[in-house]
Amino acid sequence: MKIVRVRIAGDEIAYGAVEEEGIRVHVGSPFVAWEPTEAIIPFTEAQLLSPVFPTKIVCVGKNYADHAAEMGSELPSDPIIFIKPATAVIGPDTPIVLPPDSEEVHHEVELAVVIGKVTRNVAAEDVGPHILGYTAANDVTARDLQRADGQWARAKGFDTFCPLGPAIETELDPRGLKVRCTVNGEIRQEGNTEDMVFGVAELVEFISRVMTLLPGDVVLTGTPAGVGPIEAGDIVEVNIERIGSVRNPVVAGR
Ligand code: ZN
Repeated sequence: MKIVRVRIAGDEIAYGAVEEEGIRVHVGSPFVAWEPTEAIIPFTEAQLLSPVFPTKIVCVGKNYADHAAEMGSELPSDPIIFIKPATAVIGPDTPIVLPPDSEEVHHEVELAVVIGKVTRNVAAEDVGPHILGYTAANDVTARDLQRADGQWARAKGFDTFCPLGPAIETELDPRGLKVRCTVNGEIRQEGNTEDMVFGVAELVEFISRVMTLLPGDVVLTGTPAGVGPIEAGDIVEVNIERIGSVRNPVVAGR
């Protein structure tokens, strides 16, 4: 199933499920309990939001060997984790705003894991039922500030620096999926989740030994090689096989 969040009349927001004719509006939430209604929104009229609004986004650095190499880094022996704030999340078609404090903002396509239930101290072999599904993410990064600060809260934490979407795919094996990023239609990153250093189950186990993951929290699993700059006027699109694309225009902030 593909789960989306849509804006319906005015400020009203609902979860929906993708069906053949459009998006079936539901009441409630897939994280607690939800039920289908009679309403279907045609795809052409649906205004998609980020499919989830997490309390935190836990990200993994250097989880593809080719990206670690392009950053001049060794592969870590344990996952390197950091957090993006929930306020960084945006949905499809919403602009990524370039902060005036940075002159080098990069795209990073990543497979995103959406947690379905309270997850604390869970062993890798028991992780499966804790995952609601998967979506696509862009871990937008101010590379110059990342280098300057030596830690990543500022570089990774600006508002709009975490596009998510378009849907949460609930029936998906996260292994062996193609991941791709294009800027203005030109391919910048192409990888495959089979090249991740630490797999999804290992990552969730590792993170859950540190902090409790709550329903709706998101884990970004790292990016393959090919990261590069985005500029005002660009359209950046990240795509994960079998999930789809989240596409965002880039604008200058002030
Ligand atoms: Zn990243």
